[in-house]
Amino acid sequence: MRNIRTRAVHVAQETGATDAAGAPTSRPLSVPLVQSSAFAFDSADELARAMAGPDGAYVYGRRGNPTVRALERTLADLEGGASAIAFASGMGAISGILLALLRPGDRVIAQRCLYGGTYAALSDLTERYGIEVAYISGDDPAEFEALAGPRTRLLLLETIANPTARVPDLPGLLAAARRHGVLGAVDNSLASPVLCRPVELGADIVLHSTTKYLAGHSDVIGGAAVFADDALRREVWPRTVELGASADPFAAWLTLRGIATLPLRMRAHCANAALLAERLSGHPAVTAVHWPWLGSHPRASRARTLLSGGGGLLSFELAGGREAGRAFVEGVEVARLALSLGGVETLVTHPASTSHRELDEGALARAGIGTGLVRMSVGIEDPEDLWRDIEQALRSSFGLTK
Ligand code: PLP
Repeated sequence: MRNIRTRAVHVAQETGATDAAGAPTSRPLSVPLVQSSAFAFDSADELARAMAGPDGAYVYGRRGNPTVRALERTLADLEGGASAIAFASGMGAISGILLALLRPGDRVIAQRCLYGGTYAALSDLTERYGIEVAYISGDDPAEFEALAGPRTRLLLLETIANPTARVPDLPGLLAAARRHGVLGAVDNSLASPVLCRPVELGADIVLHSTTKYLAGHSDVIGGAAVFADDALRREVWPRTVELGASADPFAAWLTLRGIATLPLRMRAHCANAALLAERLSGHPAVTAVHWPWLGSHPRASRARTLLSGGGGLLSFELAGGREAGRAFVEGVEVARLALSLGGVETLVTHPASTSHRELDEGALARAGIGTGLVRMSVGIEDPEDLWRDIEQALRSSFGLTK
């Protein structure tokens, strides 16, 4: 099979000019943007046939579109899955899969430190639809074994958890899920298929906020679910069409454009993160660095085995606590204070005063988040410019002199 760098550039293509006999004569080099909500037919029978399933002729944009399908094929290919469904957002993909697969009385076993939106969606399912959710640390398959029962339908994990960059025991947990006939789903948004391909580790479904590294330029919202077995896509597809969180063709086109440089960008994100993590861990204002590829990190060997390329998200704890965290994110000049991650630019947030502001100190501590924690999505800028920016923000926040 060709390398992922080649496959990210030469993606699935469908549309092309044909000669009088219908043979292709030339094709556009880039994937065409087909910005059409509906598709016209000459024959009523053909239209009826096309409505029968997900893969026939295009009928209506919510059910399928050539640009969106090119993205779906590309994502399935990069993740090593059989097929994919693209969604309007990462939460569209996650909610779509949960709603399509779960029934009242079912149990989901999920990693405790999940993305906040996913946690909120699961809590809502418990409250309104009687779906049970049990949480595990992600470190030990025995925790899953102890909770799995006859109504357990889904195991939900994240390759790299946000904001603490924890890497769970994906192979151990996915193998345990398989033994119990439970579907294993992994949100791979923070790793991307360049760093980890959960299908190879036993996942049935790989979820993405394509908003993040896949699109990579902070200019589009999108999501996807990739399936190891196409039968599962066929099962959930009609329900996702009902939900209506389908990807827009222009968003799919921008995402494909981003994917062409994904392997190059991931290499730069990870190299910059490695350098910054190393230097931050030696800075007197920093009490802990969460980047599990650092030699000093307690889970370094798991992270290095599962994601040998590293990761682009890191977080660090400031000695000065809450005030220091807030001052730091307001003090950076190259990095920007913004909530997303995975784009070309370095972004910082202070979870205790933004995404996790509703948690008191005890709840923050249980989630592994200190009051002075800063999350940094490391971009692809020059690393020395980033380090100078971090140093000046630390100096001006705490009056430190070097
Ligand atoms: N999954 C993870 C790990 C995320 O970090 C996010 C957003 O930050 C999402 C899912 C949701 O994605 P979206 O914002 O595209 O709906």
